[in-house]
Amino acid sequence: SFKKSLGQNFLIDQNILGKIVAAAGLDDTKGALEIGPGIGALTEKLAQEAGKVTAVEIDQRLLPILEEVLEPYSHVNVIHGDVLKLDLQALFAAEFGGVNGVSVVANLPYYVTTPILMKLLEEKLPLEHIVVMIQKEVAERMAAAPGGKDYGSLSIAVQYYSVPELICTVPHSVFIPQPNVESAVIRLTVRKTPAVAVKDEAFFFEVVQASFAQRRKTISNNLKSRFFPKEGRERLENLLEEAGIQSSRRAETLSLDEFAKLSDTLLDAGLKEL
Ligand code: SAM
Repeated sequence: SFKKSLGQNFLIDQNILGKIVAAAGLDDTKGALEIGPGIGALTEKLAQEAGKVTAVEIDQRLLPILEEVLEPYSHVNVIHGDVLKLDLQALFAAEFGGVNGVSVVANLPYYVTTPILMKLLEEKLPLEHIVVMIQKEVAERMAAAPGGKDYGSLSIAVQYYSVPELICTVPHSVFIPQPNVESAVIRLTVRKTPAVAVKDEAFFFEVVQASFAQRRKTISNNLKSRFFPKEGRERLENLLEEAGIQSSRRAETLSLDEFAKLSDTLLDAGLKEL
């Protein structure tokens, strides 16, 4: 029986499995970390390409099946655990010592995909690519350019750490059981250094969040609510001007560079303490 609570929709289409594995750019010098191997369909394909495969599965009931499916592959290691709770730095050191680059590959339950991706990116693990099956709508938000309704704090967080690319959309029919949402495969090529240099990363993300707090409001109104709820406008208007941003703009029109300039300007003005 499938476990709904663990979001278990298993992939059965060889063509899609092949596309996911190909997008990870593996060869026998490279390692793959699979999150949520399920019954091992993707894991087996990874084993045929990569020099080392480590798969982390939360559901203990699947371990005997995985052991059997992966029995022919001595370079595959299955770990029982919740990837959100694992010490990934330690896991990397233990599992991927000898390899020439590691990529993450995953078809995860959709409700944990974003937290897991953000954990992988924020921990600044030495990753080449992250290839994941994801809700199509979330993939579009991750890859969105400034100016449209899909562009928001998720786009900025993902693009700060990586270069996202939509690999393909995926029909419902390739899963058992079939999910109710449309899916897509996205590849994040992890940057060696973030897309923009900022003086304070946490504050940068705070400014981004505050700017998008109410999407229909101008950047000036959103920042005022967050930083100067009781003051007049003048100080904020001056800071926006200093950062080169017209106060009538909305957050969804700002590039990462503009957010970086804005957060450094607000930081220098001492707004972090507010
Ligand atoms: N990769 C397989 C496939 O493509 O057929 C299984 C996909 S299924 C959507 C997701 C898998 O992730 C399930 O096996 C589930 O038990 C596992 N899983 C869910 N949450 C997890 C977590 N926090 N850590 C590790 N595995 C998890």
